[in-house]
Amino acid sequence: MKVNEVNILVVEDDDFQREMLVNMLRSLGATSISDAANGQQALEVLHSENAKPMDIAICDINMPEMDGMEFLRHLGEEKSATSIIILSTLDKALLASVAKMSLAYGMKLLGVIEKPISVAQLEAMIFKYERTNIKPKKAVNTGPKFSLEEILHGVHAKQCEPFFQPKVDLETNRIVGAEALARWIHPEHGVVAPYAFINLLEQSSKMDELTFNMLDKSVAASRLLHDSGHAISISINLSLTSLTDISLADRITQVVKEAGVDPQQIVLEITESAAMTDVAFALENLARLRMHGFGLSIDDYGTGYASMQQLTRIAFTELKIDQSFVTDFATNHALRIIVESSIDMAHKLQVKSVAEGVETQEDWDTLKSMNCDAAQGYFIAKPMNLSSFVDFCAEYSARQV
Ligand code: C2E
Ligand code: CA
Repeated sequence: MKVNEVNILVVEDDDFQREMLVNMLRSLGATSISDAANGQQALEVLHSENAKPMDIAICDINMPEMDGMEFLRHLGEEKSATSIIILSTLDKALLASVAKMSLAYGMKLLGVIEKPISVAQLEAMIFKYERTNIKPKKAVNTGPKFSLEEILHGVHAKQCEPFFQPKVDLETNRIVGAEALARWIHPEHGVVAPYAFINLLEQSSKMDELTFNMLDKSVAASRLLHDSGHAISISINLSLTSLTDISLADRITQVVKEAGVDPQQIVLEITESAAMTDVAFALENLARLRMHGFGLSIDDYGTGYASMQQLTRIAFTELKIDQSFVTDFATNHALRIIVESSIDMAHKLQVKSVAEGVETQEDWDTLKSMNCDAAQGYFIAKPMNLSSFVDFCAEYSARQV
């Protein structure tokens, strides 16, 4: 969604600041802007007869009559889909608790900006909204369409294979890991990409069999790679919905240990592409996996919703910056800010930062200058089957000496 298609509501009691914000938004290309001087007026705007669905509300916290917190509570109770940007002069700790509160109300929080607000900060938040609401890789579905029955048949017949895409350390230039990405080797259609089957499996709560197929094959690959002298970690994607099964962590641990692989060599990438119902079960599973030594990665960082943010309470070991931020970021100022602050946050949390979707030398150089830890993307290699990947590792390490 482009900025000129987005409906924005500015809630700010100070006339001068409100006008300034509206002008900044106009300078960024926004055309549909409403404004209100406090929470009460904002609710009236939202509930008025010809009201458009509001995409973004930019909300001050300290306001007379109805303050920002009460306004956010009302939005939460109405299960509003509006994304929120909080701005205030309050101190950082207080702002952090207001941010937590709005997440607890189930709001989509784009971020918190301390006043005085700059155009660049505002631009970065709007960009984040635009990117979150395109999500092309999850929406686009090219190629043949399959029914759930056809997909399940393929899964039972174990026709899905992991393809491996290397993750390279930006400093040492060595391969440090690989992500296992599911490919359906279809008897008629050949190699089918995950867009054609993952969503349907997730929506019908039938991910389990595919997940464990991928786990079995990826763990076997991990052994083979270690035995051929490539001590790299293997990352496996885990749908957030699978985490609501309380036995998941134990079952994963059992598979990995039985294959003679150390859980420390396995990273689980958790991605949010569907709503999660049971945060407590997910937290227990994640804590147990971490306890057994698995690495935990927040996948597609920056595009998830509130439930994913609640999970950040768990000790993750890696933050994966979504490719929608990395593509074009070398020439786009707002995207650059998002990527840079994500890397910065990863460092502060003492977790590894990994950028996906690295397609050019320029992307690589920019990430290196930002002290990002590792890169993954077509610039290094596309995902490939196991035997090609083993050859790739051998050639790549030969090139480094
Ligand atoms: P993801 O985890 O974000 O994986 C990265 C996707 O970006 C992969 O698409 C990969 O092929 C693609 N990619 C890698 N480098 C580049 C690049 O430089 N440029 C561009 N434009 N794209 C790049 P893929 O393999 O089609 O997977 C799509 C999504 O399907 C994955 O996104 C992941 O969310 C899901 N997925 C794949 N395998 C599994 C699985 O076994 N289990 C679960 N739950 N989800 C899976
Ligand atoms: Ca992933």
